Amino acid sequence: MKFETRAIHESTIIDPATGGIGGSLQLSTTFERAEDGSYPGGYVYTRESNPNRLALERGLAVLEGGVDAAAFSSGSGATMTLLQALQSGDHVVVPQDMYYGLRRLMQEVFALAGLRFSYIDMADLNAVEQAVTQDTRLVIIETPSNPLLKITDIQAVGEITHAAGAYLAVDNTILTPVLQRPLELGADFVIHATTKYMGGHSDVLGGALIAREATELWQRIQLVQHLGGSVPSPFDCWLVARGLQTLAYRMRGHNDNAQKVAAFLAEHPAIDAVLYPGLETHAGNAVHSRQSGGGGGLMSVLVKGEAEAAINAAAKVRVFTRATSFGGVHSLIEHRASVEGPDSTTPGNLLRLSIGLEHPDDLIADLDHALGS
Ligand SMILES: *Cc1c(COP(=O)(O)O)cnc(C)c1O
Repeated sequence: MKFETRAIHESTIIDPATGGIGGSLQLSTTFERAEDGSYPGGYVYTRESNPNRLALERGLAVLEGGVDAAAFSSGSGATMTLLQALQSGDHVVVPQDMYYGLRRLMQEVFALAGLRFSYIDMADLNAVEQAVTQDTRLVIIETPSNPLLKITDIQAVGEITHAAGAYLAVDNTILTPVLQRPLELGADFVIHATTKYMGGHSDVLGGALIAREATELWQRIQLVQHLGGSVPSPFDCWLVARGLQTLAYRMRGHNDNAQKVAAFLAEHPAIDAVLYPGLETHAGNAVHSRQSGGGGGLMSVLVKGEAEAAINAAAKVRVFTRATSFGGVHSLIEHRASVEGPDSTTPGNLLRLSIGLEHPDDLIADLDHALGS
């Protein structure tokens, strides 16, 4: 069956007791044993397994084309558990311009616990070749990256990684499996902040890891999660699973709207550059078109002038909402450097736009007004 059909049928369980097609919410933390000591329902304790989490994990595995998935209490929690499954002394290669919260997690937490990190430009395959050695255990990439929307060649980095005997994990939060399937391109793991497009309505925090094969590292990840407990609540699982049902249609809407907004901004006199991989002028467009089905819903723009010009433009929007994050139905605009704080390397004149599901004409008119033409 096709993606849309599976997305609807494989991430929900019709409630057997009532026939409710929205599925039931199982809030129990503990499950009854039979007289012989067995567990008739297959569940023991909710930190290890819960029906709502299992349904979500099955949906995530199916949509990314993996053998298994683990749902987490946040996107950061997913990457944290992946790193906790490594051992002191392991070498990890990550992007220079990765999601800033994860860069801080690496620098301020895991570097102190003995993991060794190399921060490199993943768009430069020579730099990847040089950084990945026989000591490397894991390579993490984000493509497109956030907030610079740089493109990494997933297949090429996968080959370099595997030649060194390491694992490749790809953060697929920005495109989702509707537009990009890293496991089919050779990645070992996919990472998601389901907080973004999978939840899709800015009302649930969550994360996920999906595995191409049940490798030794995957078993260790599951062990760390079961013992450590960075699991989502049943209701959070139910919300994300509901989001999966409409994911394909929402992603098409985000993608079509963003393509129109990007084309408009690229011609706008108040804009210096539009960072959006769906534009032919983007440096990574050739690689991106080969490995994905569209530019997605996220873009950044460099406003002509300094930080003040960008902040002033963001102050004038009426349809866009000034807020961080992305992936919901509301269009959001954000001055990224001031959210990232004093150690940010993001250009001061950069605004990040999450293109929502409003009508594109209204979004374009709003930006045109805000940019003062
Ligand atoms: C948002 C985001 C995260 C963090 O997810 P949280 O749910 O906020 O912890 C990680 N990676 C990427 C690419 C993100 O966009």
